[in-house]
Order: sequence, then structure tokens, then C-alpha cells
Amino acid sequence: MYNKKTKIVATISDLNCDVDFIRKLFKSGLDVVRMNTAHQKPEDTMRIIRNVREVSDRIALMIDTKGPEIRTNATENGLEVRTGDQVLMKGAPGVKSYENVVCLSYGNVVEEIPVGSRILIDDGDIELVVQSKNDEFLVCEAGNPGIILGRKSVNIPGTEVKLPPLTEKDKRYVQLAIDEDVDFIAHSFVRNKEDVLEIQKMLDMQNSRVKIIAKIENQSGVDHIDEILDHAYGVMVARGDLAIEIPYSQIPGIQKMLINKCIQRRKPVIIATQMLHSMIHSPRPTRAEVSDIANAIYSQTDAIMLSGETAYGKYPVESLRTMATVAIEVEKTKEVINDIPIEIMNNEIAAFLIKASVEAAVDLSARAILADSMTGRTILGLAAYRGDKTVWAKCYDRRVVRELALSYGVTANYMEPTKTSDEFVKGAAYSLLKDGLIEKQDVLVVIAGNFGHSAGASFVEIGTVENLISK
Ligand code: PEP
Repeated sequence: MYNKKTKIVATISDLNCDVDFIRKLFKSGLDVVRMNTAHQKPEDTMRIIRNVREVSDRIALMIDTKGPEIRTNATENGLEVRTGDQVLMKGAPGVKSYENVVCLSYGNVVEEIPVGSRILIDDGDIELVVQSKNDEFLVCEAGNPGIILGRKSVNIPGTEVKLPPLTEKDKRYVQLAIDEDVDFIAHSFVRNKEDVLEIQKMLDMQNSRVKIIAKIENQSGVDHIDEILDHAYGVMVARGDLAIEIPYSQIPGIQKMLINKCIQRRKPVIIATQMLHSMIHSPRPTRAEVSDIANAIYSQTDAIMLSGETAYGKYPVESLRTMATVAIEVEKTKEVINDIPIEIMNNEIAAFLIKASVEAAVDLSARAILADSMTGRTILGLAAYRGDKTVWAKCYDRRVVRELALSYGVTANYMEPTKTSDEFVKGAAYSLLKDGLIEKQDVLVVIAGNFGHSAGASFVEIGTVENLISK
């Protein structure tokens, strides 16, 4: 799907990860495979990785960690509560819940959760309010009826508990990501820069190039977005947990704000969760879901994500096709960004040339922008403008090809490094022509560098394909 600019991340589970299935998704526009390790064993994850790699080395792999979270501990039958019932809670890792006492997986709940807090269980299905506390228990009142079961999520909106950034399971998965050299680790419940740096430390110790995507899913992550962006490669707006931690009416505004922050910093951003939720059971999307996808693209996201739709839904391929079809249509009427401050980038010369390339491509009705890249930096700069012309990224590193699978409007390919920039322009334009992707009369905007890869872009050349290849 070369004409789709919005990137699609699909969650794949071990329930449905055959090579043929992944190939069908790839042909329908899949760019990145996400593996949700909260629900997987390492051998399941390994099977998915192997199968994805059998389909194509262009599909990027993303390991999603469980992250610092609190859950209810196992129980025999669950605790049935009615509105107004008193429920006791305590932090007791490994201890089963009993009678009217709900034990939680985090030890310090009594110390750290203040009286008056709301505690939401099982994705917000049951609400408890802390009325008082003593040395052992939080004394809570149930706000609605339900059954409190074991291993269910526990959210405490507005309270920042001091959970360590990485669980033991997360550490094992970060190691797996390093060993398998996957492309991204999407880390759950990132609260601040320390949560990102803890993973980066593990990566650095082993010289790993795996990139970190910070999943923003609570108030603390929203509040610390600037420092998080100083250290993360990109962001996922994880609306599932976000809408439990923060009133859902605020989510659209937060989504827009996070997209804008990522654009300013030239970092990829993914909008996630319930984009086509009804298609888990139904072959057609709701009108609201189509509008949600459109709104994310009009708001200038890089990527959109499927979760249950592809992980265990009845219509995974249809869901992917629906996303791709809506994206292609919406992109036709979407604006190109023209006001990203160039000072934010370290290399102001490259930033200036990137802006000029995007403007020239629009003003001259060029067919595409062509750029070379060692690290992907110039390409991320180009993608940030969300231009209406494809950015053909010729990368001298296969890993960078996959990393760019998250970036809007970019089609990346591997290319052997050339000795001179003239050779690059000629060779890259010729290969696009030979593959039938451009025609001789098309105008191309080329951005490349003359002073070595670390110096970044140093010139823009504009010409017809015919002229560029006869240089
Ligand atoms: C989310 O909460 O929106 C999300 C993407 O995270 P997970 O699927 O891991 O709960």
C-alpha cells in the first residue's frame, strides 16, 4: 500500500499469528506488529517474532511491556459487592484475597493512597472510595455493585504510587527485545523521564539500539510529557488506561496536545485503543469509529493502532483494510503543517533545508521527496510536516528502515552507501524509476548531505527524474 501515508500498528497475539495471516495483514497495509506481553509468555512472543520475520524484514516489531501496575491478587470466588458496602484493601503481594478483604499486588497501598481517593477495579467496572485507613487496611465504600475478581487492573486516578519502573517480567522482556534486536519497546504507564531512563540504562549497557516508545496512560505521564520526550523515541497515546485515569471528556484534548508536542520534537506518535472496537465482533465499523480514525489523522498523528481487533477479533483483516481505506481517503483532504519552529532541532541547517524541501514539494507539485539517511534524523524531520508527497527514504542501515515504519508519509528502503552525493541522487532516482514508482517527467525534491553522514543534510536539489539520472 504505497499510497497510504498514515502508519498502522496491529497487535498480534499467539492465538492468531500464522505466517499466512500476517502476510494478509502486511498486504493490507500493516507497518508495525505490536506484541502485548502482559498477556503472553516469552515462547509465544518468540513465535510471533519468527513468523513476522518470515513474512518481511520491513515489518517493525514492537514489544509492549506490562509496566508498573497494581492488580488484585487471586481469590477463590471473587468478592461480590453492593453499592455502599464496606470493602477492606491492603497491599499484600502474593497473598490471596479473603472474606471482604481485597489484597493487592503492591505492598505500600495503605501508606501511599490517601483518604478520599477513588480506586477503580477491572478497567473502571467497580469504583471504591477510600473512607479512612488504619495501619493495615484502606477502608473503602463501593460506589456500584459488581464482583471483584483476581488479577484485575487497579487504577487510582490522580495518585502517583511509587512502583518501580520495571517489573521482573518487564526486565525479562526488555532482555528478550535486546537479544532479538526488535525495533521498539513500548513501555506501559510511563510517569516521568526516570521510567524511560531505567530501560535506556539496560539498553545502553548492552549497546542495544532498540527504541523506546513511551505509553502515556495516566496524569503523571501527561504532566511530564516534555521531559519524557527528551528521552523517548516516540509516544503512544494509550487511550484505554488514559480514559480510566483521567475523565474521558478530557481525552480528545490530551490526544491533540500530545500529537502537537511530538510534532514539535519530530518524534513519532501513535493513537491507540478502540479505534475499531466494534469490529472485534462485526464486519463493518461504526460511523463514530470511522470519525475517530479520521480525527486522529486530521489532528496529524503518524500512526493508528489496532488492539483486540487483530489480536483476537473475528474480523482482523477487514479491520486493517478498513483503517487503511479510511486513512487513504482522509489524507486527500488533510493539511500540510507549515509552522514547526526550526530552532528546536539541534542541527539548524538540516532543519531549514527540511522545511524548504517540504515547501518546494508542495509549491512545485513535485511527485515526491527523496532523501538519504544513516540515522533516520532527517527523515523524522521531514515526516513531522505530514506532507502530501511521499518521502522516499534511502537508508544505509536496515534497522533504520524498520524504525521509519512508524513515521507518516515515509517509504523507506535499504541502499548501499554511495561514495558521492551525486551518485546517491542518480542511483536513488534511477531505482525508483526502474521499479515503476516514478516517471521520467516527474519533479523530485532531493535532500541529502555533502559533508558525511553525521553532518546531516547540506543541500536540496530539485529536478525532473530525467535530469537527475543524467547528472
Ligand atoms: C491502552 O491502555 O490504551 C493500551 C494501549 O495499553 P494496553 O493495551 O497494554 O492496556
